[in-house]
Amino acid sequence: MKKIDAHAHVGYFGSWCDVGVTAEEMVAAMRQYDIEKSIVSYPDNDVTLAALDGWPTQFCGLAWMDPNKGERAVADFAGLADRKAGVSGLKLHPLFNAYTANDPVVFPLIEEARKRGLPVFIHSGHPPFSLPWSIGQLAELYPDVRFVMIHMGHGHGVYIQAAIDVAAKHDNIWLENSGMPMHTKIREAYSRVGSDRIFWGSDAPFHHYAVEILRTEVSGLSESQLEDVFYNNVKKFMGW
Ligand SMILES: [Zn+2]
Repeated sequence: MKKIDAHAHVGYFGSWCDVGVTAEEMVAAMRQYDIEKSIVSYPDNDVTLAALDGWPTQFCGLAWMDPNKGERAVADFAGLADRKAGVSGLKLHPLFNAYTANDPVVFPLIEEARKRGLPVFIHSGHPPFSLPWSIGQLAELYPDVRFVMIHMGHGHGVYIQAAIDVAAKHDNIWLENSGMPMHTKIREAYSRVGSDRIFWGSDAPFHHYAVEILRTEVSGLSESQLEDVFYNNVKKFMGW
């Protein structure tokens, strides 16, 4: 089944992570797993831009911004969005960059995304920074901005349930399922949050494509519903 990967990274993550993939390697893996396009980001945006320049049809880029950098982050984000073959959204990682998802330090970047009509992809699932409830509060403050809750709560059952509850309450939150261990929650999100509000993602190179694909395949959704999760929903969301 053809796919679009709603969440992946090109580049190397050191420290405890010690995982990495080059753009070339990812394009080869995408061919192997029938992935038409991958939405990628990396802390150094130049790595993302190089992937976009090299493989403009295979990659869509997000600007990974650190809100703690203040006005410079907003200006850099604007520059990345203005660039020809530029980024198509904002990526926030409250855990890696150490801020809570709904901290006022985030607001100027969200306002820039709103001005440009760009979606905001935000990592979820790690206390105290990226809890689903904080992301819900951010979405409530900005009802006209579209948020993607990456990992839909990640590895913690209570957070996974909260991700579904919070997204069900706010119609400007979409869920992305990479690294989320409970296959049953994919079907639950599809029916409770909305058939067009959940995306498949790999979070490569942190997770293996084969594992991430299988979990969605066994979630209990029908073939046509799987097509929504693997392909149609993110395509519609990104306006492709
Ligand atoms: Zn990730």
